[in-house]
Amino acid sequence: MGRLLLLLLALGYSLLAQAGAPALVYTQESGDVIELTPWVSAFQASELIDYRELPPQNDPRWQQLPKQGTHGMGAQNRWLRIDIDVRTHPGSRVLSINNPLLDNLRLYHLVNGNLMTEHHFGDSLPFDERLLLSTQFLYPLQLRPWEHHTLLLRVDTEGSSHVPLTLMTPGHLSQMLESRNLVQGFQLGILAAIGLFSLFVALASGSFSYSYYAAYVLSMTLLVASLQGVAFRYLWPQLPAMQAWVIPFLLPLVMCFALMFAEKVLQLKYLNIRMLRICRFSATFSLFLALLSPFISYSLAMYCDLVALLGIAVVLLAFALVQALRGQKLARLYFVGWIVFLASVIVTSLIYLGAIQTTMEPLSPAMAGVTFEIVFMSLVLAIRYSDERKAKQRIQQEALEQAKRIREAREEALKVEAESNERLEEMVQERTLELEIVLRELNEVNQKLTEQTTIDSLTGVKNRAAFNKRLQAEGRISRRQQTPMALLMLDIDHFKNINDKYGHLAGDYTLKAIADTLSAQLRRPTDLVSRFGGEEFAIILPSTDAEGAVAVAEHIREAVEELTIKWEQFMIPLTVSIGVSSNIIESDEHPLQLLEQADKALYQAKHDGRNRVGLFQDIPVPHP
Ligand code: GH3
Ligand code: MG
Ligand code: MG
Repeated sequence: MGRLLLLLLALGYSLLAQAGAPALVYTQESGDVIELTPWVSAFQASELIDYRELPPQNDPRWQQLPKQGTHGMGAQNRWLRIDIDVRTHPGSRVLSINNPLLDNLRLYHLVNGNLMTEHHFGDSLPFDERLLLSTQFLYPLQLRPWEHHTLLLRVDTEGSSHVPLTLMTPGHLSQMLESRNLVQGFQLGILAAIGLFSLFVALASGSFSYSYYAAYVLSMTLLVASLQGVAFRYLWPQLPAMQAWVIPFLLPLVMCFALMFAEKVLQLKYLNIRMLRICRFSATFSLFLALLSPFISYSLAMYCDLVALLGIAVVLLAFALVQALRGQKLARLYFVGWIVFLASVIVTSLIYLGAIQTTMEPLSPAMAGVTFEIVFMSLVLAIRYSDERKAKQRIQQEALEQAKRIREAREEALKVEAESNERLEEMVQERTLELEIVLRELNEVNQKLTEQTTIDSLTGVKNRAAFNKRLQAEGRISRRQQTPMALLMLDIDHFKNINDKYGHLAGDYTLKAIADTLSAQLRRPTDLVSRFGGEEFAIILPSTDAEGAVAVAEHIREAVEELTIKWEQFMIPLTVSIGVSSNIIESDEHPLQLLEQADKALYQAKHDGRNRVGLFQDIPVPHP
């Protein structure tokens, strides 16, 4: 009974032990491509051991791989085993290990239990040490009839521990590589072209949005190239050490630029300050992660990066959604691009996890998503740029119109000013003219006035004041030029009688007639007749000696005697007596003395019988 139980247990154990994968039977019917996952067994060694120390093929410690293969981060001392039983048909095959990021692979190829080849793969070795120079690891093997091949693979890696194994004919391999290279080249080409184009736009326009976008696309291009192993192959084939940190470095860098770009596209600076702060904080944090990555272990760095990526993706999606719901056009487009990208990443993850069964490479959806997202974002950016340009143009147009309005207003003001200036000038000219006329009139009036003050109103000859003034002036000339000056004092004879006989009006009339006669008798312009007072006249004759003066006086006397003055029906007879004095003036008092002398001579003439001329002499002239 106990034995039976033991037997059953042993049977059960042996059934469980069948967990190891069966051997691949290679026949003529085996196709060009054999996905090896169903034939792979895995063994996790606790320490570094030699292949000879591995448990035998049927040992239950060998576990068959799940259908979707193994996933997860990092593997140490993990052994994979594939057994191939070749039947009648020989074949030339290539083993492909399609994960370019595996660090260390040690392959032991045994034929019929004997070690044929031991080979070392991995991106911790310089690129040119590979057997076949390809981004994926390739190992060619010749299958001959009735051989039993064992492939033992020790995996040591820090990144994804996915080991997709395929056995294919060289012909299929070349076809596959050709089409895959085309797809990869196309994708990298698009990314690099958009990245460079954006960079040039950024440099030419100084636009921050384009700078961040260019940085985002170019770092993304580098990340994709690194993930595909292309970067290692072409950019740093001699630097396997760089492979150890370039992906955990690039991933947060891409996130940093994605955040900065998102900030610009969503216009958080103007629309949402809180979102802006979160964005900037996350970008700084991502940059910090990138700079930290070379100093921490790959798996820790990748773990941090992926957690951060998840968080940032959710945050950006939420921001885009909120801004889109608030009606921002660009946020809507950004949301579309971002959600397509995330969906593609999720599809890739589901393929890795085995939730989706497909023959395509798990990374393909994510790569397609990235490409779509970047192309779409360039569209978003172009729309944003065009919107900005339109807005700028509108503002410029408005500014131009405003400037035009200001210019017109200024011109109008200048015109008005010029017109008013002209009017003002005209008014000033008119006023000046009027003023000049008034001044002239005033001048004339003034002249008349001064003339009037020097003229005797009754007779029209100079008055006493004018005579006095002129006497002084002519006295000075006589004194200076030493020429004689003559004075005539004239008095109408018996004038009282005329007044008494014919009335005062007749007297005045007579005075006027005498004055006119005197003025008519004196021809020299310098001679001056004045009414000295009452019916007496004083005459100044400059540059005239006594003889000349007596002659003039005599002419005057005769002229008056011959004068016929008619008053009403009466003829008024009239005579005058004239006193003459003449001398060169010697002092300031001399003119007055000369006047007194003329007066004395007049008195003498009256005394001598009137109607006569008397010359003043120191010795009186005896009367004839
Ligand atoms: P004579 O000189 O010959 O000695 O005699 P007369 O009659 O002229 O005497 P006198 O010189 O003394 O008289 C002056 C008179 O002249 C006095 C006055 O009646 C008169 N008389 C003086 N001024 C005016 C005047 O402005 N108009 C008039 N009508 N008579 C005047
Ligand atoms: Mg008199
Ligand atoms: Mg008289």
